[in-house]
Amino acid sequence: MKKKRVFLTRTLHDFALKELKKRYQIEIHSGKIPIPKIKLELKIKNIDGLICFPYDKIDKELIDAAKNLKVISTYSVGFDHIDTQYAKKKKIRVGYTPEVLTDATADLAFSLMIDVLRRVSEGDRIIRHGKWKQIYGAYDYVGTDLQGKTLGIFGLGRIGGTLAKRAKAFDMKIIYHNRKDVSKNKEKILGAKYVTFEKMITDSDIISIHVPHTKETNQLFDMKIFKKMKKTAFLINTARGKIINEKDLITALNKKIIAGAALDVYESEPISKNHPLIKIQNVVLAPHIGSSTDETRAKMAELTVKNLNLGINGKSPIYSVGY
Ligand code: NAP
Repeated sequence: MKKKRVFLTRTLHDFALKELKKRYQIEIHSGKIPIPKIKLELKIKNIDGLICFPYDKIDKELIDAAKNLKVISTYSVGFDHIDTQYAKKKKIRVGYTPEVLTDATADLAFSLMIDVLRRVSEGDRIIRHGKWKQIYGAYDYVGTDLQGKTLGIFGLGRIGGTLAKRAKAFDMKIIYHNRKDVSKNKEKILGAKYVTFEKMITDSDIISIHVPHTKETNQLFDMKIFKKMKKTAFLINTARGKIINEKDLITALNKKIIAGAALDVYESEPISKNHPLIKIQNVVLAPHIGSSTDETRAKMAELTVKNLNLGINGKSPIYSVGY
């Protein structure tokens, strides 16, 4: 029997490729990342399964080009790059990879928070530029304590909740906002208190964003919000870049409307060396590495393949968007 065809927009771990090769005829895009849409449109025509990544925008047009596609398996927990409603309409299953990357991403959010409050990366730059002597005095280069500060978690889900555990151990006060509050038991375990969006914005010393990127959250953090935040507050974003109005954030940082930011995600990625964020000292920049540890990436590859195997055979993926 002819093997089903699977296309990957980037390569995966060897063990995952071996597993895929046993069952399918596979093709892996090499070269420019993300794959140009025109190339993906050609490839998607005849395949049964697609493995994609957050940089690949899988829109209506691409889905319409697919004639045999049964499953889109994304190597990510975010699925805002896929038109999932249209895929469902076309009876194409969508698999994604939650849970396995929760700890790694929460760790990164926490490390960004420590970094920007204690000015670690900024100090690294000072040393590398031979300027240590200029900040030698006892008060020349001071950071901010974490202990006792109020951390506002926007989106107390898997990653936000795991961040709360870390923050509790650092004696921080935790407030959060979701569309719906979590159970009293979960609040107790995490030491987190539900507040309105407004209160989270005005009362937090640090806000960490953990909501998905949706129509509701698109560009939500703009100048109006930055002006309501404390002047001494920091903003951490490991969710999705488009949740923040980047132009407004740059102005807010330059005009000291807020104290600093630490980002893993951007409106458009990768950012260039001429990006205005690069010139700002009170911002820590990570290259979208929330889930990027050896262990986590291997688990994501395993789950991506399992989701694909199920979906390609008309079954619901282990983690499935919609059905
Ligand atoms: P999750 O478990 O689904 O948590 C999302 C939380 O956001 C939930 O508590 C949800 O609660 C809340 N929420 C959703 N929409 C909201 C809204 N409009 N207003 C207020 N709260 C809202 O997701 P997760 O696994 O923690 O992942 C969160 C996001 O992190 C992903 O969507 C992904 O984009 C991003 N991520 C990034 C990286 C990276 O590499 N940087 C890695 C992993 C994940 P309610 O439903 O009650 O509102």
